[in-house]
Amino acid sequence: AGTGKFFVGGNWKCNGTKDSISKLVSDLNSAKLEPDVDVVVAPPFLYLDQVKSSLTDRIEISGQNSWVGKGGAFTGEISVEQLKDIGCKWVILGHSERRHVIGEDDQFIGKKAAYALNEGLGVIACIGEKLEEREAGKTFDICFQQLKAFADAVPSWENIVVAYEPVWAIGTGKVASPQQAQEVHVAVRDWLKKNVSAEVASKTRIIYGGSVNGGNSAELAKEEDIDGFLVGGASLKGPEFATIVNAVT
Ligand code: PEP
Repeated sequence: AGTGKFFVGGNWKCNGTKDSISKLVSDLNSAKLEPDVDVVVAPPFLYLDQVKSSLTDRIEISGQNSWVGKGGAFTGEISVEQLKDIGCKWVILGHSERRHVIGEDDQFIGKKAAYALNEGLGVIACIGEKLEEREAGKTFDICFQQLKAFADAVPSWENIVVAYEPVWAIGTGKVASPQQAQEVHVAVRDWLKKNVSAEVASKTRIIYGGSVNGGNSAELAKEEDIDGFLVGGASLKGPEFATIVNAVT
């Protein structure tokens, strides 16, 4: 971990029921979390209100996606205004499942980030290469291209956390090695330095996501440019998520 405040997000994806979420919230409420870590969870939209009203204020709430502009006649979408109304401080944008399963492209994601930031939400901006891209030696190209689409669109980097999530590591149990993650994190920081500013490069937190769990988080957290984690599967288990939050110490 670097000098910035460690940041751990839990992406619950499309999982849970009223009952299972109530149990998860109660586990999180009773967990001992290191004070010097930003902790955020992203429940499915349907349960945001339930979570917001039952979860300790120690943990902030995030949307898993948001509409690209002001809400209105957009069937099935959730607006930034609505996320703020329900108490969200963050939104995850550009997650690989939205890029590669739903088909969102770099520019659309950039526009979403700009809109959310302009309205005052923090953005967890996800980037990452697919397996075939890594094997073809294109990891940096892909990450920089996705990063550039954010950089071209956003008004400021103040409220952005970059999540490096190699697609081959998401939900597969194949975690990147600390060295593999660190290598990309350094490259991302360097890209920010050259293309945005030295200040943004040093202040922006770059978190890793992809099969992080209670057993591998401490090793990953030792890397200098890993400033936290975005956690999928393991964030559905309160005690394990707490272990990951506390991995930095
Ligand atoms: C994610 O979806 O952001 C993620 C990292 O998932 P998992 O931890 O399950 O690989």
